[in-house]
Amino acid sequence: MAEFRRDPLLGNWVVTGFTKTKSNAAGVCPFCPGNEEMTPPAIREIRDRQGRWLLRCFPAANPVFQVEGGADKRAEGFYDKMGTLGADELIVENVSHTKTMSAFEPSEVSLVVEMYTERIIDLKRDERFKYVLVSKNHGEITGSFIFHPHSHVLATPIVPQQVSQELANSRDHYLLKERCLLCDVVSQEVRQGKRVVTLTDHFVVLCPFASRVAFEVWILPRRHTAAFESWGYRAIQEEFVEVFLDTMKRIERVAASYSIAIHTSPNLTKDGLTEENVAVTDYFHWHLEILPRDVNSSRFKREDQFYTVFTAPEEAAILLRAKNPRRLP
Ligand SMILES: [Zn+2]
Ligand SMILES: [Zn+2]
Ligand SMILES: [Zn+2]
Repeated sequence: MAEFRRDPLLGNWVVTGFTKTKSNAAGVCPFCPGNEEMTPPAIREIRDRQGRWLLRCFPAANPVFQVEGGADKRAEGFYDKMGTLGADELIVENVSHTKTMSAFEPSEVSLVVEMYTERIIDLKRDERFKYVLVSKNHGEITGSFIFHPHSHVLATPIVPQQVSQELANSRDHYLLKERCLLCDVVSQEVRQGKRVVTLTDHFVVLCPFASRVAFEVWILPRRHTAAFESWGYRAIQEEFVEVFLDTMKRIERVAASYSIAIHTSPNLTKDGLTEENVAVTDYFHWHLEILPRDVNSSRFKREDQFYTVFTAPEEAAILLRAKNPRRLP
């Protein structure tokens, strides 16, 4: 039986006792149209006028997390553990098995963004979940063995470690300066321009100052917004779709494998995500992170925990800007 265990020294949670099942029917893609019975029934499908699905979302066949029950916090001596409460979903982004995101039509990327938004809103309604993480791994180096374009949605009773660190640093910065940390990052990056890949009215695409891998790219809203799923105006969502697609075209020219993660605000519940009278919505600023995973362009974290990057972010930004597949309006 799988369970969450907290490492008391590092403070992070790990899942232990999860058994992987063998994937069925080698060579047959469970995500292709016609093979729907190979996956659990869909939670949500977006269909065309003829009733054929364009995107599907369904629970993972062998989920690490279970939706039923509570977080079931308990102790073993002084150690903390809890049941693996959570939602573990997959989104098949397109009917095409071979099309990578850079080859999607804007209308297709728009449906992907729509599905991400819907799933985050839906799962955040469940107060047992503290966080909803949407991510995507593309390429075998990332551990993704199904080529068919798909994303993961994970809702957990724990805020994932990296987001938890981002929240802590954002809160400290806000308490000290009364300003949002990423708003400060955005304004300095726009002013300096040297790590900026694309700039539109509402979004900035940049190579972060301390990139962990070569060609790491973040997409951030220029105006302070805590949650990815709260678009406000339709036009802003459409602008994001354009920027996202344009960025993927640039990324796929430099990397065959990459990971994407959407860092939205945590789920606001009554049990104290606002501390020192500051609201998480004031200090957390959503962003989308893209980490290319090419052996030649980047090296994974070394055993000493220092990332080593061979292409400086300033240089990466120049190269990504130059690969100009399409002008933005
Ligand atoms: Zn397929
Ligand atoms: Zn901000
Ligand atoms: Zn982040």
